[in-house]
Amino acid sequence: MSTLRFNALAQLQNRQSRKVEAPSELVSDYYGSHVFDLNKMKKTLSSVVFKKVERAIKEGESIDEYVADAVATALKTWAIDKGATHYTHWFQPLTGSTAEKHDAFLDVSPDGSAIEKFKGSALIRQEPDASSFPSGGIRQTFEARGYTAWDPTSPAFLMENGNGITLCIPTVFVSYTGEALDNKAPLLKALEKVDIAATEVCQYFDKSVTKVTPTLGCEQEFFLIDSALADVRPDLTITGRTLFGRKPAKGQQLDDHYFGSIPSRVQHFLQELEIESYKLGIPITTRHNEVAPSQFEVAPIFEEVNVANDHNQLLMDVMEKVARRHEFKILFHEKPFAELNGSGKHNNWALATNTGKNLLAPSSKAKENLQFLTFFVNTIKAVYEHADLIRASIASAGNDHRLGANEAPPAILSIFIGTQLTNVLNELEHNGDVKVGKGDNIYMKLGIDKIPPILLDNTDRNRTSPFAFTGNKFELRAVGSNANNATSMTALNTAVADQLNKFKISVDAQIDKGVKKEVAIVNILREYIQESKNILFEGNGYSDEWVDEAAKRGLNNRKSTPHALDAYTDKKTINLLTSNSVMNEQEIKARHEIMLEDYIMKIQIEARTMTDIAVNHIAPTAIKYQNTLIKNAKGLKELGLEEETKEIVISIKNISNHISSIKRLSYELTQERKRVNKIKNTRDKAIAYCEDIKEKYFDQLRWHADKLETMIDDQDWPLPKYRELLFLR
Ligand code: ADP
Ligand code: MG
Repeated sequence: MSTLRFNALAQLQNRQSRKVEAPSELVSDYYGSHVFDLNKMKKTLSSVVFKKVERAIKEGESIDEYVADAVATALKTWAIDKGATHYTHWFQPLTGSTAEKHDAFLDVSPDGSAIEKFKGSALIRQEPDASSFPSGGIRQTFEARGYTAWDPTSPAFLMENGNGITLCIPTVFVSYTGEALDNKAPLLKALEKVDIAATEVCQYFDKSVTKVTPTLGCEQEFFLIDSALADVRPDLTITGRTLFGRKPAKGQQLDDHYFGSIPSRVQHFLQELEIESYKLGIPITTRHNEVAPSQFEVAPIFEEVNVANDHNQLLMDVMEKVARRHEFKILFHEKPFAELNGSGKHNNWALATNTGKNLLAPSSKAKENLQFLTFFVNTIKAVYEHADLIRASIASAGNDHRLGANEAPPAILSIFIGTQLTNVLNELEHNGDVKVGKGDNIYMKLGIDKIPPILLDNTDRNRTSPFAFTGNKFELRAVGSNANNATSMTALNTAVADQLNKFKISVDAQIDKGVKKEVAIVNILREYIQESKNILFEGNGYSDEWVDEAAKRGLNNRKSTPHALDAYTDKKTINLLTSNSVMNEQEIKARHEIMLEDYIMKIQIEARTMTDIAVNHIAPTAIKYQNTLIKNAKGLKELGLEEETKEIVISIKNISNHISSIKRLSYELTQERKRVNKIKNTRDKAIAYCEDIKEKYFDQLRWHADKLETMIDDQDWPLPKYRELLFLR
C-alpha cells in the first residue's frame, strides 16, 4: 500500500475547521490597525512635519533628514507600542515575490545598556545584500551592491509572523548606479508620467484638474488544496503545479462550483484572511468560488495603482500564511491542474482626477463625454501601439499554459468595448469633417451627444477578451495569478502616458492653426480610431476563426514566453520606455534577460521533477504491480486455468510498454537537457527549453504515466489523485 498517500488521506479525515474570531464585531474598529497611515501620522507628528510628509505623498516632494528623523521616531514608537521588535525594508525584487531583511530596533550604548533605535537614515535607505537577487547582468558591469529607498506613497505596516511582529517599510530597490533592480521603481515612474500627461489633457476640459491618479482593482484567483495531500506530491511542492494526474470523472463540466456555496473549511480560511487583510488596510470585499473545483477568487476595492499592487503582493503573502494555519496549501500557479481552468489576476484599471472624476466613466453631459471619449480612444490607441509590450509584460512559464488555451484570453491582444461604444466609434469615424457654425450645438454636430450615461449594466461581459471595457474601467484579464502587477501596469501606464502626450501635441497643432478646440479633438480621435480599429474585437476570442482573422489584421500571436519577450528588444518598446524615462536601455535589457532566465529555470525545474517522479515513483510502482500480475498469471497457469491468464498477460504487456516508454523518454529528456544547458545565448536557450524539452517531452511522459494511473491498483498509487486533491477537504 502507498503509505504516504493513505496517511495523508487519513489526516484529512480528522481535520477540524479552525475557529476564527474577529478582534471586534465592527470591521471599522480594527481596519488599518496595523498600518501607519496619514491619520496616525497626523496624530503623532508635528503639523509642520505632517504637512511635509503629506506633500511628499501627494505631490512627490522630497523629504529632508529632519522630517525623516521625525517620521522614524513616530514610526518606531507606534511599532514598538504594538509589539514590534524588528523593522525591514520591504521590496519587490525581480524574482517575482517580495523580500525582507530584518533588523532589530536594538542598539547598545557605550555604557552597555540597550536602547531602541531607529533613525531617519534607516527609514530612508538600507543596503540589503543585493548579490543574490537577479539583476540581469547590471551588477556585474557596475557596483556589486544595491540599496533600498523608502517609498512614502505606500504606508508602512506591521507584519505578524509566528510570535514576532515586524515593521515593514515599502521601498524601491536600485543599484548604486541608479538602475532599478525591482518592480516598483519603474512603476512609480510610469505612474508619474501618466499623471502629468493626463492632467495636461484634462486642461482642455476642466482647468481645476491638477492631478490624475491611475487606479487598480486586482481580482485574484487561486486554488486551495489540503496541505497533507499537497505535501506528498513532489510536483506540487516543488513546481506549484501537478505534472502528472488523470482528470477525474467529474471536473468542472457541471459548472456547479462557480458561485456555489463556499465549503465551511474554506469559509473559515476566507474569514481569517479578511480579518488579517483589514488589519493591514487591504480592502477585500468580494469572495466567491471560481470555475474549477477548489478554485476561488478574492477582490479588493480599487486603490491607487502603486498601493493596490503593494496590497496585492502583501495579500498573496498573507494568504499563504493564513492558508497554512488552516492546513491548506494555496496555489497561485497559473495552471495547477491539466484540463481544468487555471488562475489569473484581472487588473481593473481607470484614471481618477483630484476632482473626484473617473476619466473612463461616460456621463450624461455631452461635454464630459468628449473628455471620456478622449481618454477611452487614447487608451485603445496606446494598447494598439504597444500590444506586443503588454503581451510581453504578462509572459511567464506558468501563464503560457493559460493564454490561448481556451479558458483564458488568447495570446493575441485585442480590445472588447461592447456594441454601444462600437456604434459610437463607428459614427465618430465616419462623420467626416465637421463644420461648426455660430449657434450650433457643437456636441450634437460632432455626434457625441448620445453616449448613454450608464453603460455599466449593459456592457456585455465578454470573458474571452484579454482587454475589455467594462462600463467605467478597462480590465486586463490576461495577467497570471502569480504575477507582480507592476510589470503590466508599467507597460500600460507608460503606453497611455506616451499616447496622451502625442495626442496633446496633435490637438495643439490644430488649435494653433485656428481649428476650434472641440473639433480639433474630434479630428484627432477620428484618426486614432481609423488607425487602431484593427485591435477592436467583439467576437469569441477562444475561437480558431479569431486566430486566422487576427493574423489577417496583422495582430501578433506570440504564444510562448521566449518569443513574447522579444518585445523588450523591439525598437518601439525601447523608444517608448527610454523617451518617457521609465527605464533606460540597460534596465530593459536586464529585465529581458531576467525574464528569459526565469523561464529557463522554471522549465528546467519542472523537467527535473518530472523525470524524478516518473523514474523513481511511478515506474517502480508499476513494476511492483506488474510483478503481482505475473504471480497471479503463474498461479492461474499452475491450476490449469490457461484461458483466464490471457487478459492478465495483455495487462502485463501494456504496463510493460508504458514503463519502457517512461524510462526511454526520461533518459532522452535528460540527454536533451544536457545539450540545451550548454547553449550560451539566453534567448536561444529559452526557446530550446520551450520547444525541445517542454513541448517535445512533457505531454508524452505525462500521457504514459497517466495511463498507468488507470491500470494500477489504487492502493499502490503513490500520488494523491486529482479527485482527492480537488474534492476532499
Ligand atoms: P467584476 O464583475 O469584473 O468582478 P466588479 O465590479 O466586482 O467587477 O469589480 C472588479 C474590480 O474592479 C474590483 O476590484 C473593483 O474595485 C474594481 N474597480 C471598480 N471600479 C474601478 C476603477 N474605477 N478603477 C479601477 N478598478 C476599479
Ligand atoms: Mg472581472
